[in-house]
Amino acid sequence: MQVWVGLTTSDLTGLEHSPGLSFRAQSGRTQVYQGGRLLFDTASLRVHSADQVLSVEGRKADLREPLILKTSGRLSGFYIDNLKRAGIKGAPFYRGDLRIAKSGNKVRVSLYLDLDSYLAGVLAAEMPASYHIEALKGQALCARTYALHPRLPHDLDKVNVCDSFLCCQYFAGHSAALDTRIDKAISTTASEVLVYDDKPILALFSSNAGGHTENYENCFSDPLSGAFPPPPLPYLKGVAEGQFAMAPGNEDFLRYLWANRQNKNFSADTWSAKFFFSHSFSSESLEAHMHHVAEKLASNRESAPFVVPAPAGFGRILGLRVLKRGVSGVAIEIAVDTDKGHWIFRKELIIRKLFENADLKLKRLNSARIFFDQDFHSALKGAKAKALKSLTVYGLGYGHGVGFQQQGAQGHALKGLDYRAILSHYFNGVNIEKV
Ligand SMILES: [Zn+2]
Repeated sequence: MQVWVGLTTSDLTGLEHSPGLSFRAQSGRTQVYQGGRLLFDTASLRVHSADQVLSVEGRKADLREPLILKTSGRLSGFYIDNLKRAGIKGAPFYRGDLRIAKSGNKVRVSLYLDLDSYLAGVLAAEMPASYHIEALKGQALCARTYALHPRLPHDLDKVNVCDSFLCCQYFAGHSAALDTRIDKAISTTASEVLVYDDKPILALFSSNAGGHTENYENCFSDPLSGAFPPPPLPYLKGVAEGQFAMAPGNEDFLRYLWANRQNKNFSADTWSAKFFFSHSFSSESLEAHMHHVAEKLASNRESAPFVVPAPAGFGRILGLRVLKRGVSGVAIEIAVDTDKGHWIFRKELIIRKLFENADLKLKRLNSARIFFDQDFHSALKGAKAKALKSLTVYGLGYGHGVGFQQQGAQGHALKGLDYRAILSHYFNGVNIEKV
């Protein structure tokens, strides 16, 4: 099976590239096709998208129709010289055919390659090859299934998936030498995908779920309508990662997990340092940054639907409250009480971003499975409420925590579970079938 993968810009945020991308074949020659016709057979290429022309050794091809670049040889491919990829030194390398298409005064670049060759790149970027083979196999099935059913459809982009972890799953090309362990995880599970009701599932995964995974509808909005919460998915339900002596879903449960964070046998994912985190803020630092971020989130087109500002604006912070939690204890809705009124923030990624703080070099919280300890100034005479003095955020896990979790899978694999058992633990009622 072949797939089209859209290559995003260096910041991984969009598919439209500015002028000046340059392509270089690893070895051998490159054939350039347009409309099914061979235009050039050459050794070097450079795109000048400012004038919508691809120039090749002094000859030119306009981009009125997409160009297809092919190199010969099974392992040959292209370097894209001025594209950056996190985790990759120098120019990323891609095996497969490239399509370069005009889009306004920019260009779109997509890669056409064998599904399993794409998976090799995804696994190399998403999971350490040193993980247990059964965990790697579980990740291979998630990645293969995800390629067939991404969360956001890319039909209009004329690709199956994009290469960004901000949207789909991370694919940084084939720069790294293929590890035999990754190769084995892919080849021994060839063609296997996760199926529910005869259709590939939405195979979401994250890094560390911090003791308990979460229901889909508590973390994601509907990809098409934007509605939050979206209709639930029967196979994406939160599960416990250990034998816990406490019911999940509330702050006490999170405090219980936190108290056991150093106990390696407590949960399948406690072995990792990503199981927990904490940050302490003075009220001055919290206010200075949260004020700005709250207004930014309220005015940004993508985040605005999940923010309810106080009409009078953002005032001095009086305290924070979690209003609603999911089954894992994830914060779904929080209130920031200020002396100008309450601000409401919904959805885990928005809540994580709210804590962006340059003083702590913090872009966002690792997860929204959080609880707070707050210190207050003693109430002034005549004041309506006490003001916040300092706040500590305690958190569990890394990522959204929905579906398969990589570090939990590693924990289960080390205890003897095979990839089928691991996947049926994370995806309730799902079958493995060959496509
Ligand atoms: Zn995508």
